Amino acid sequence: MVSCVNEALVTRMREFGTTIFAEMTALAVRTESINLGQGFPDTDGPAAMLERAVEAIRGGANQYPPGPGLPELRREIAETTRARYGLAYDPDGEVLVTVGATEAIATSILALAEPGDEVIVFEPYYDSYAAAIALAGAVRKPVTLRPELGRFTFDPDELRAAVTPRTRLILVNSPHNPTGTVFTREELAAIAELCVEHDLTAITDEVYEHLTFDAVEHIPLAVFPGMRDRTVMISSAGKTFSVTGWKTGWVRAPRHCVQAVQTVKQFTTFTMGAPWQRAVAYALSEEMPWVDGLRTALQAKRDRLADGLASAGFTVYRPAGTYFVQADIRPLGFTDGLDLARRLPGLCGVVAVPTQVFYDDVAAGRPYIRFAFCKRDEVIDEAVDRIKRLG
Ligand code: PMP
Ligand code: GLN
Repeated sequence: MVSCVNEALVTRMREFGTTIFAEMTALAVRTESINLGQGFPDTDGPAAMLERAVEAIRGGANQYPPGPGLPELRREIAETTRARYGLAYDPDGEVLVTVGATEAIATSILALAEPGDEVIVFEPYYDSYAAAIALAGAVRKPVTLRPELGRFTFDPDELRAAVTPRTRLILVNSPHNPTGTVFTREELAAIAELCVEHDLTAITDEVYEHLTFDAVEHIPLAVFPGMRDRTVMISSAGKTFSVTGWKTGWVRAPRHCVQAVQTVKQFTTFTMGAPWQRAVAYALSEEMPWVDGLRTALQAKRDRLADGLASAGFTVYRPAGTYFVQADIRPLGFTDGLDLARRLPGLCGVVAVPTQVFYDDVAAGRPYIRFAFCKRDEVIDEAVDRIKRLG
């Protein structure tokens, strides 16, 4: 996180300046570089879904929808969750539509963590987790993911040691941004066991649930014994349907948790834009074959970029899911990812994200930068050509 010295800002938010995504996108615009920083696709989602949003606006879906979300969207969310994972949620009371996964995460933490409660996060962590924990007055307890056999993973003993009598929540993001790790059944089972043993609530961020590669399976934590009733399961349409600007997310959780989150959500945004809800309800019902095509295309893009970065001299961690590749910059003689990310536009006209900003243990993240591959092939090819100039 890039810290902020603004004395008008409440102290608990002062460690958070501008997000790295905004900083790096502004840098890309300013320097006319190729933006492989912020993770957003440069092509649109399914055309019929876009049309549904237009029709919804023209058809008068322009006033407040119900606070929990449109019934048709809640039904589709419950139905796809049941069909895909065998997890049953009542659309009336166990599903809540939010303004992106970001609001789902923030309101869940605000609703479930008391000031002083400890929240375990795997670092590198998605930046909004740290900010939401700080807003709640809670305390983050990072457990570091480290490279081992070509992927980032955690040491179960370190995870166990992070639990204290003050631990209330654990945040689990799989497929994981920014490392691309998809937690295995064994890793998830270890997390689940700990949650049950210590009576922890899990908040799972599954926004990349459909974007896994090489037949790697995404398994929700909620399917493990004892977990369905202690998990707040979050996802979003942004990544699944390539509409990151629609900010349509959702929570599935036991009734008492949804009630708690909704109590907070009433006062952050009350409800979520009606046209997008209509269109996403349609997409969940009809456009999952389109998502299969997206997954196949993204896997090829992953290989295109990963191969290119490797040929440019980086050590590359080929992800099992998400939009992102981690590159170790040391083989090219660099040591500090933040410094390199800020200089990269000048050196070669490409923007990436420094991974260290997602760590408390900054040294653990210093050698890595993150590149996004959710871009057209010609954009990836041009970026790779430019990056090769670094060598
Ligand atoms: N969690 C993770 C891991 C993400 O990468 C993102 C960015 N899409 C979000 C949450 C936020 O999702 P949304 O845009 O739906 O708020
Ligand atoms: N999820 C996107 C990423 O990781 C960024 C979203 C944002 O800009 N807040 O790149």
